[in-house]
This record gives sequence, C-alpha cells and structure tokens, in this order.
Amino acid sequence: MRYSIIGSGFSGLSAAAYLSKKGYKVDVYEKNSTLGGRARKLKYKGYTFDMGPSWYWMPDVFENFFNDFDHKPDDFYNLIKLNPGFDIIFKDFNKISLSSNWDEVLNLFESYEKGASKKLIEFINEAEFKYNFGIKKLVHEPGVSIKELFKPEIFKNIFKLQIFSSYRKHVRKFFKNHYLRSILEFPVLFLGSTPQETPALYSLMAYSGLKQGTFYPIGGFNKVVEGMVKVCKENGVKFYKNFNVKKLNISDNLVKSIESDSKKINIDLLLCSNDYQFVDQQLLPKKYSNYSKKYWESRVMSPSCLIFYIGVSKKLKKLNHHNLFFDEDIDNHAHEIYKSKKWPSRPLFYASATSVTDKSTAPPGKENIFILMPISPGLKDNDKIRNKYFKLIISRLEKYCNEDINSYIEFNKSYCVKDFIDDYNSYKGNAYGLANTLLQTANLKPKIFNRKIKNLFYTGQLTVPGPGVPPSIISGKVVSEYLLKKVNKK
Ligand SMILES: Cc1cc2nc3c(=O)[nH]c(=O)nc-3n(C[C@H](O)[C@H](O)[C@H](O)COP(=O)(O)OP(=O)(O)OC[C@H]3O[C@@H](n4cnc5c(N)ncnc54)[C@H](O)[C@@H]3O)c2cc1C
Repeated sequence: MRYSIIGSGFSGLSAAAYLSKKGYKVDVYEKNSTLGGRARKLKYKGYTFDMGPSWYWMPDVFENFFNDFDHKPDDFYNLIKLNPGFDIIFKDFNKISLSSNWDEVLNLFESYEKGASKKLIEFINEAEFKYNFGIKKLVHEPGVSIKELFKPEIFKNIFKLQIFSSYRKHVRKFFKNHYLRSILEFPVLFLGSTPQETPALYSLMAYSGLKQGTFYPIGGFNKVVEGMVKVCKENGVKFYKNFNVKKLNISDNLVKSIESDSKKINIDLLLCSNDYQFVDQQLLPKKYSNYSKKYWESRVMSPSCLIFYIGVSKKLKKLNHHNLFFDEDIDNHAHEIYKSKKWPSRPLFYASATSVTDKSTAPPGKENIFILMPISPGLKDNDKIRNKYFKLIISRLEKYCNEDINSYIEFNKSYCVKDFIDDYNSYKGNAYGLANTLLQTANLKPKIFNRKIKNLFYTGQLTVPGPGVPPSIISGKVVSEYLLKKVNKK
C-alpha cells in the first residue's frame, strides 16, 4: 500500500510522518515550491518573515509529535519562552504586558479588579481540565460517529467541557473589568469566531496562553516545518514540490490517479490535506462530493487577513515581540468580519517583531515587522485598499511607538484574500480554515472520509479537530490512526 498525500502543511506533514513510521511508502505532492503550507517563510535581503503562524502555544502538542518519532523539539530548534508573552494595547495606547510568570499574571488581574486573582485561579483550573481532557482525549476522536461522544469517559465529562455554552458568557461570569475580559477573550479570535459564538470549551486556549506561556522557536516558526520534514525524510517520505494537483481520475468508486498539468501518477490511497472545500467542490466531479455548494456557503469560515511583511532599517524602541492593538472596539470589528462582512472601519490589528527576540530574522540594527489585520473572507481586495490600510496602520504604529517608521521602511510586501486563493486554493481566501463555532465543533465538522470514494480521505484545518498549528498536527495523527485501523482490518 502506497499513501499519496496532497499538501505539505502541518496536517500533511504529520500524517506523512505517522504513516511512514509504520513502514508504508508515502508521497507528498505540494503545489508550491516550498514546504509548510501556510507556514512558509519569506526571505528578503537579510530579513526572514514567517508568512503565517507566529504564536507557539500548546508546546506539549509539538513535544508529543516529536516524541512519537524518538525526537524532541530541541533536536530541530531552540525553543524559548517569551517574557512578556505578549502586549495588549488598549484605547489611548494603554498597554498591558502579560508576564510569563504566573504570580505576576495573578497580581496584574488583582490590580484591575479586587478578588480577580482568586477568580483567575478558578477559571484557569477549569480551563486546565478542559485542556488536558480536550488535548488528550476529545481531539483524538475522528468525528466519524456520534457514538464517540457517548464513550463513558467523554460522556461523563461532557458538561464539564462546556461544549454547548458560550465563551463570552463564561468569561463574564468570572470577571467584570473590560481589560481582563478582553485578555481572556482574545485567544478565541484565533479560532476564527466571536467569543459569543465560540464554545466555552475553548477557555483551554486561555490556559495555554496565560499559564503555559507563549513560546518562540529561534529562527522562526518555519523551523517547526523543517523539523517535521526531517522526521518525514528519516522515515522515507518522498516530497514532490511544484506539483499542483488539478485532476483526480476516478473509476469504480476509487481514485485511480492524480494529475498535474504535466504528470499523471497512479495511486492506491489519497489523503487530501489541502483545503477540503477545494477538493470537494473543484477537484471532485459533483456526484462524488461529500457536501453541496449550499452547505459550503452556509459554513462560517475563519477570517481572511490583510498582512504586511515590513523591513524597517532601524530598531523600534517600544514594540515587543507580540503586540495586539485592541485600541479600537473589538465587537465592532468582529461584527464587520462575521455579520456585515465588509472592510473594517476601525480595525484592530496584530504586530509581531520577531527581531526583538531573534537577531537572525533581520539585519543588524533593523526590525522585521509582521502586521496582520483580520477581515471577512471573500472580500474583494486590490492595491488601493491594501495601501489605504497600510497607511492607517503605519500611522497608528508611529503614534504608539512615538517615532517615525514610514521613512525607514525598506521592504514592504502585502498579502491578502487573492494571495490565499492563488497560493493555497483557499475557500474565500480564508486564513485559518473553518471557524470553531458551536455548530461546527467535533462531529459537526466535515468528515475525514469520502462517502462514495473508498480510498479518499481528508485532514487539515477544515476538518477535525480544527484550525491552528497544534490542531492541524493532531489532525494528521487522527486521520493516520483511522487509516491504519482500516487497512489492518482488511
Ligand atoms: C496568517 C496566518 C497566521 C496564523 N497564525 C497562527 C498562529 O499564530 N498560531 C497557530 O497555531 N496557527 C496559526 N495559523 C493557522 C495555522 O497556520 C493553520 O491552521 C495550519 O498551518 C493549517 O495547516 P494545514 O495542513 O491544514 O493547511 P495548509 O498549511 O494550508 O496546507 C495545505 C497545503 O496544500 C497545498 N495545496 C493546496 N492545493 C493543492 C493542490 N491542488 N495540489 C497540491 N498541493 C496543494 C497548499 O499549497 C498547502 O501547502 C495562522 C494561519 C495564517 C494563514
């Protein structure tokens, strides 16, 4: 049996590693010229930018992955804990730094609301339970049968996991202060949804961010990709770059071969780790799709983003490694992403300067800045719009940093909806896949198998367990375990 995988993002790499470890031959076909999917790297005259993920949370998931192959993250990269983990900049540039020291976080909470440190301990204890249970048990279910939720251990804890209640209500039960609520609410924005519509289960993200801490692999996030590729190669995985799969040839309810413009490859089993919607609606003839056009149109996708990769020829005094600009109204921006679906009037944004921590990512005396502004997926983007927001954001950065930045910019590349579609075949240009809303969690996500084609399967951020690097790594493991069980049954 030979396994063919489309896509070399975290889910594809993870699946390739697990399947090859069992002695199977694995081939990975990647449309781009570099590996890593949304976590590719961009280099320009001494600057190195991570094009996608930059927040390294849930370090145990990375550790577990490498341990499964008798490695540790250390074998591939030097992981450091950031202190502060991140800065949040509120109205009037009122900054709160989140320390990597738990006692300092408790003191910070207490300083904003009397009794909040005690409540935070209670909140985080609950979140730690959800994290441990969620990461060790729940996310490893393949979501193929409702029976999974009735397994005694899961069913017994289902109410403690708070899958069916809203995260916002949960936070508001504990805290009154606006700043504290925002600190706890912001991590779910990574899950591509509003705090109102995200299950309270996801307080587990707050546990990871506030208690475990925020980490950084020296050299950048792409180091994780490099490590995973090495693990795959050690197990014999073969990579085929610049292989854009444009056609699946199907007969007798089996995919027989895949085709790019210039090559046709016969296959035994196909695992698609590229965007699910693209396979379902564009690669497959309609009669083999798992879902209808209407189904996809009704899904809540995670936001797309307008990103700027900027090289600045001086050091900036005030910017930290991770800076969240929450100096505008968060609900208003969320409404424009999810409800009115228009370009934001007063956007929040995120700025990362890895060069604050890591000299290797910018030339000496210079700063590499990554700006991300979340937007509604599917918006029309063009240079005029990108330039408008570039000016707006740089001017806000200048005001916050209290220094000229614009005249020191020596590199600036933007990335938006159109690029996500061109580079990754991303549905509506989404950045992080399918949002983790109440109705799109666990078994309610698109299934990992094709209902009509017996040798076609799916993994990645549009299926279980969901968006983000750690879930994508787990997704690759979940689907490979499912496949191995199926193959061994035969
Ligand atoms: C800007 C941005 C910031 C993010 N920040 C964070 C963060 O800080 N922390 C975090 O944990 N997560 C973050 N994420 C989310 C995280 O990066 C993703 O959830 C994860 O990388 C998805 O992995 P994947 O394997 O599902 O998909 P992908 O990475 O998209 O991999 C799919 C691969 O399939 C390839 N492909 C597509 N079509 C074809 C085809 N027809 N033929 C061949 N190959 C094809 C694509 O080129 C791609 O390489 C971020 C994402 C983005 C975009």
